[in-house]
Amino acid sequence: MSAPLVLDGKTLAKSVEQELASRVQRIKEKSGVTPILATIIVGSDPASVTYVRMKGNACRRIGMESLKVELPEETTTQQLIDKIQELNRDENVHGILLQHPVPAHIDEMACFLSIDVSKDVDGVNPNTFGRMALQMDSFKCATPYGIITLLKHYNIQIAGKEAVVIGRSPILGKPVAMLLLNENATVTICHSKTKDLPNVVRRADIVVAAVGRPKFVKADWIKEGCVLVDAGYNPGNIGDIDLENCISKCSAYTPVPGGVGPMTINRLIYQTVESAEKKLGLA
Ligand code: NAP
Repeated sequence: MSAPLVLDGKTLAKSVEQELASRVQRIKEKSGVTPILATIIVGSDPASVTYVRMKGNACRRIGMESLKVELPEETTTQQLIDKIQELNRDENVHGILLQHPVPAHIDEMACFLSIDVSKDVDGVNPNTFGRMALQMDSFKCATPYGIITLLKHYNIQIAGKEAVVIGRSPILGKPVAMLLLNENATVTICHSKTKDLPNVVRRADIVVAAVGRPKFVKADWIKEGCVLVDAGYNPGNIGDIDLENCISKCSAYTPVPGGVGPMTINRLIYQTVESAEKKLGLA
């Protein structure tokens, strides 16, 4: 078999950033407004701090601003909701990102629900999920949207294919399954109670791993020629797929790092630009 195709999210994200930079420039010229993404971080989890910094850097690269809101670890659910509502009302803010996970004492879903859907550029509000699943006009959940964008960019056929998603989290497994379904894949969603997971994965033309366990998907679980999407990001830059041993069997794969991760940030800033264009009547 020929060498598998590398679904290079880093390169795609970079080229989309060029397009976004010119759209931001146009927004500034036509309206005098600089789009702003508000990023909220609660506490000081090192990984979250890094992700928020990377998102701020991406905003700057395309000429947008990021408004960093840092709240202490002991912030209550109500205090966080109040802050989100303040940003909902702020005319200068076009997108809101609540970096998750938030500390365990906070009701994360209540906070997601309080984000105005017109500013929900990370696609975490359950109302955004519902609209996205039903193919109504809405933002999309950033990581799943990044995955679909990457597959489409590389002309990976989705319609009619068997897709197996491992993981059913509200921000990754479930929404990516919905987007694959909307692209006419036949979708199976697996989770910790799935029986005989390897045999289910063996059916897949497209495998999406969103488990949070390093090298969880093994080479003998996958079908020859399948497409591997590794959404996992574990300490040490290790994905959820044992890629090293799977590469010779698959037809395409997302590397870790440089596959799904850059596309997540890319979709976040992409949707913030869209939000600003809509708000300013420039869409
Ligand atoms: P999560 O909320 O912890 O969900 C993990 C899912 O995996 C759950 O649905 C769980 O099933 C399932 N699971 C756990 N053990 C399993 C097993 N033995 N067999 C089958 N399924 C099992 O995680 P997440 O937030 O979706 O994140 C998943 C991974 O993606 C993590 O590595 C995370 O770092 C990464 N991630 C990457 C990006 C990015 O931009 N690249 C963005 C978000 C997340 P149950 O529902 O039954 O518990």
